[in-house]
Amino acid sequence: MKETYPFPKKPLPYDFDALEPYIDRETMEYHHDKHLGTYTDKLNQALSGYPDYQGWTLEELLCNLEKLPEELRTPVIHNGGGVYNHWMYFSSLGREKKPMGETALKKVAESFGSLEQMKAKMKELALGVFGSGYVWLAVKDGTLVLEQTANQDTPLSLGMIPILPLDVWEHAYYLKHQNRRADYLEQYMSAVDWGIVGERIEEVVKW
Ligand code: MN
Repeated sequence: MKETYPFPKKPLPYDFDALEPYIDRETMEYHHDKHLGTYTDKLNQALSGYPDYQGWTLEELLCNLEKLPEELRTPVIHNGGGVYNHWMYFSSLGREKKPMGETALKKVAESFGSLEQMKAKMKELALGVFGSGYVWLAVKDGTLVLEQTANQDTPLSLGMIPILPLDVWEHAYYLKHQNRRADYLEQYMSAVDWGIVGERIEEVVKW
């Protein structure tokens, strides 16, 4: 991602109702416009007084937290993470509904047995996230892994390359499913564009 301060409010790459019946229009409107919108505003506010860091991309900010002034670090973790994680989330969903390519499928099978087993493990981990957070498919030392993260922490800051975020903040599902996180997890798996996930895997994983 090449964007720097002021970080833009990117439109969804598809219509708000493009993920129906899996993820409803109203949830997408709130999630994208209000939640991501607020993270973007707050990140820009936080960076407005720090010209030295206004040329940094989200990756540069989130991979170099220790280089930031202390008072900027927490706002970047919360809001920079919020922007990065949501850009990843929305760009992982819907669209062409392509299947995952053969090469990526083989890599997934090496780590998890099969794509179906990977989805099952991801859902299991997502049910175990206490409070707000994510489960990520990520690459760590050249290998695909599944990791839980809290709040808006991102695998980037933990030395991993993020591939697919599963957002389990209540704002991702409460309007449609209320407290039934498991129902959302099921629908989420149908809303993911596995073709895009496969392309990311093929770009990143060392062979
Ligand atoms: Mn979210």
